[in-house]
Amino acid sequence: MRVRYVVRLGLRLFLLLGMIHGRANLRAEPVEKAKPSSTPTRQFTAADYTAHVQALQKKLPSKDFTVVIAPPFVVVGDEPAEMVRERAENTVQWAVKRLKKLYFQKDPQQILDIWLFKDKQSYEANCKRLFGKTPDTPFGYYSHEDKALVMNIATGGGTLVHEIVHPFVAANFPKCPAWFNEGLGSLYEQSGEVEGEIHGYTNWRLPRLQEAIRTKNLASFKKLCSTTETEFYDKDDRGTNYSQARYLCYYLQQQGLLQKFYRSFSEKQEADPTGYATLTKIVGSKDMGEFQTEWEDYVLKLRR
Ligand SMILES: [Zn+2]
Repeated sequence: MRVRYVVRLGLRLFLLLGMIHGRANLRAEPVEKAKPSSTPTRQFTAADYTAHVQALQKKLPSKDFTVVIAPPFVVVGDEPAEMVRERAENTVQWAVKRLKKLYFQKDPQQILDIWLFKDKQSYEANCKRLFGKTPDTPFGYYSHEDKALVMNIATGGGTLVHEIVHPFVAANFPKCPAWFNEGLGSLYEQSGEVEGEIHGYTNWRLPRLQEAIRTKNLASFKKLCSTTETEFYDKDDRGTNYSQARYLCYYLQQQGLLQKFYRSFSEKQEADPTGYATLTKIVGSKDMGEFQTEWEDYVLKLRR
């Protein structure tokens, strides 16, 4: 099969952003920690994308790959070309447009590749071939050093939207702690559109969180917010860091407070590095123990 490249340049390329319709079907496990970066952002031109695609062509593992420019990303996958194009538009551009509208002013500082491998075999073999890595997740991950989001797309688009959040957080909120970076990313791993905005729904992380609440095995928000990156990603923890962070974000979203929290926290991060003081203020609760009890009751009533 001939290598197919879909290069949409100039105005057409940017008009695409406004033409995307669709919905992400999302279920997935998150994975690799997002690495922040602090260099100034830059705008990429059509010529930059063309040069990037030309360089990418040289390292494609086979002729079955389709390349689609989807600013600020370049999507490359070995599913049928039409499917790669559809994912670039209906998942990647769909999510990028709506996430930028709610949160992110700056694009990532580099053009990032989104590799969509068609199945487990392609994912594992090509991770090794392209990046010299054996992935520690069956779903996909974001690698700052490889400038790439790497997906086994057969597992669904959920991880893809989750991982798209991380490079935007790195560009816009470089000191964002892991708990909020992952809370926001995982919120959108199951998402759709409500009144033109991206909206996270309840998902597979809920039952385990409810169980932890019932068995009184959940950390306080003060503890969650103050977890270091190492603690947050520690696979030996009680396993609720992601779900607790996600459903705090879900709660804030449902109260119409999530966007406000993101803005306040990112603006005041120097004074409040963990976000706990900002959270306390946003939920209007002087007693965070009381707030946690209310939130836990709320979570226990949620259904998938
Ligand atoms: Zn993540």
